[in-house]
Amino acid sequence: MTEHSASGKLDWVTAAIALGGNLGDSHRILLSAMTAIDQARGIQVIARSPLYKTAPVGPPQPDYLNACILVETSLTPRALLQQLLTIENQFGRVRQERWGARSLDLDLLLFSDQIVDLPGLTVPHSRLHERPFVLIPLMNIAPQWPHPIFGKTIAQLVDQLSMTTPITGVERLD
Ligand code: ATP
Ligand code: CA
Ligand code: CA
Repeated sequence: MTEHSASGKLDWVTAAIALGGNLGDSHRILLSAMTAIDQARGIQVIARSPLYKTAPVGPPQPDYLNACILVETSLTPRALLQQLLTIENQFGRVRQERWGARSLDLDLLLFSDQIVDLPGLTVPHSRLHERPFVLIPLMNIAPQWPHPIFGKTIAQLVDQLSMTTPITGVERLD
């Protein structure tokens, strides 16, 4: 099947990626990672959210910086994630305890309207809809993107989340 990206490129699709980090110079690392993603073959960054300072989830650790970007890509979801994991490594990512501090975390949030459930690759990201530190930056650049499983837009997911839990600990930096 042929698909078109947001800007109409044939067989390119739009994907959403979350960036986060809390070790080292996170501001510099997140901006450099966006550049590295844009320079990778078959990936073009088309939108960037502001940076947000967010309270950590998981073991005690410093605050995070988080952001989201939209890309157009000719890669498969698997190849795109592989590229993101390579870039994490280039920025010194070391996996230790679950949800522990890290220099750079890149998560594939959405890939067109596709649902992927493979070993090591779940799209949409399985915790996207419950995380203010992902939804708030994403709402900045893709409020109308429908979640392919829940059928609600990102803005609607934020509304739904804020009805059950007041959204705190996500502060926009500018
Ligand atoms: P969380 O997934 O809760 O955000 P995390 O980002 O800290 O936690 P990682 O250690 O970065 O988790 O990733 C663990 C594994 O998750 C990766 O090796 C990757 O294969 C897998 N994974 C599955 N789906 C995705 C996805 N959509 N984006 C990124 N990684 C994914
Ligand atoms: Ca993550
Ligand atoms: Ca990750």
